[in-house]
Amino acid sequence: MSADLLDRVRDFAGAELMDRANYFDTRPEVPVPASAALHRAGLANWWLPVEYGTAGASLETSVDIVSELAYADAGFAFSSFLSILGTTILRLFADPSTAAEYLGRMARDGGVCGILVSEEAAGSELGRTATTYTVRDGSLLLNGDKYFSTNTDAADFLLVAARSVHDESVFSVVLVPRDTPGVEIVKRWDMIGMRGSGTYQVRLDNCAVPVENLLPGHGLRHLEAGLNASRILIAATAIGVSRRIRDLAMEYATTKTVKGAPLIGNAVFAGKLGQIEMYIDVMRNQCRAAAAQFDEAVSSGDPGGTLYRTGTLRSALAAKMYCGQAGWAVATIGSEMFGGLGYTEDHPIGKLVRDLRYVGLVEGGDDVVRDLLYTRYVIPVARRR
Ligand SMILES: Cc1cc2nc3c(=O)[nH]c(=O)nc-3n(C[C@H](O)[C@H](O)[C@H](O)COP(=O)(O)OP(=O)(O)OC[C@H]3O[C@@H](n4cnc5c(N)ncnc54)[C@H](O)[C@@H]3O)c2cc1C
Repeated sequence: MSADLLDRVRDFAGAELMDRANYFDTRPEVPVPASAALHRAGLANWWLPVEYGTAGASLETSVDIVSELAYADAGFAFSSFLSILGTTILRLFADPSTAAEYLGRMARDGGVCGILVSEEAAGSELGRTATTYTVRDGSLLLNGDKYFSTNTDAADFLLVAARSVHDESVFSVVLVPRDTPGVEIVKRWDMIGMRGSGTYQVRLDNCAVPVENLLPGHGLRHLEAGLNASRILIAATAIGVSRRIRDLAMEYATTKTVKGAPLIGNAVFAGKLGQIEMYIDVMRNQCRAAAAQFDEAVSSGDPGGTLYRTGTLRSALAAKMYCGQAGWAVATIGSEMFGGLGYTEDHPIGKLVRDLRYVGLVEGGDDVVRDLLYTRYVIPVARRR
């Protein structure tokens, strides 16, 4: 099943993305037609449970799917998988009929959802979140400015992190249909990489939703549970981009000669490619192991409770930080590989380097991840191993 699915993803990426990645990179609009093609190929939202009529892939298989998509275009891959953060939260923590309604529609339409957490002052420091909700006339009223949120323009629904006006210590996640009056796109950010995806600044101006749209429980716990899945897939984009850099280097080395001999037979070149292969293999193994741990938690009798208690998985944090760093090491080798041509827009390496940089930034930069590992897995003696 998963081998067949991966073949389909590879075929899709070859047909729809490989020759267009540069186009995605240079055009101002997001590649909606390619997303529609992903849906037509039966691959959109591939991780949703099979009963929704999707491919029903595990997170472990999703690591390889994302690697295949990112091999062709990391921005498109990001845009295609990021909804896993919102759908995981909805599946685990929303009332089952609400989850079924929203996820069913998303599966049917090949839609996406947006997650609105980051703010100008409160990105990593969620304690400083300024977006609020209040209860008025039987509705929840949301107000605030969200700095970054991917896919929001095209989304079917949004999950918004906000605090209660009535009690500042209460931090929650609220489900907001995208067409709710008061959800305003301020702008699309002009990112230096991942340009096959769209990330927006959004204003919530007196958005009213039913009080039932407030997810029960602590919002931070909801986010941590969902971030496990999306962080592992962000890490997996580094595998795809690194594989692409390796293959471009091999292609180049067959025609390039150094000291009268093909580069491909050069011992210095061989050492670099061996080093890249080591990075790729460790990245893949770490992502698969972290994903298997997440899959195990999700298939337990009480997935919401299990992930609510566990919070951030150490293996997911390690995957994201390691892949960001190893991917960046591969990008550095790659950017030297093609000589001066590698510093021009004529060669794809520049785009690959720009794309790779996001792995160590989005959903927690390395300083934040180190801090999380320290506070969650080093300080508590019982969690050390
Ligand atoms: C392409 C892209 C897509 C995105 N999509 C979304 C999205 O869909 N939804 C969403 O909510 N957000 C999104 N973001 C936001 C992204 O997740 C944040 O920008 C990222 O987590 C970093 O947070 P920050 O910008 O607040 O910077 P910070 O984390 O505040 O970092 C700024 C500086 O503070 C330092 N710092 C921060 N914390 C610590 C610490 N504990 N110890 C030491 N130093 C520290 C950092 O090292 C850095 O130097 C996206 C961003 C990008 C670039």
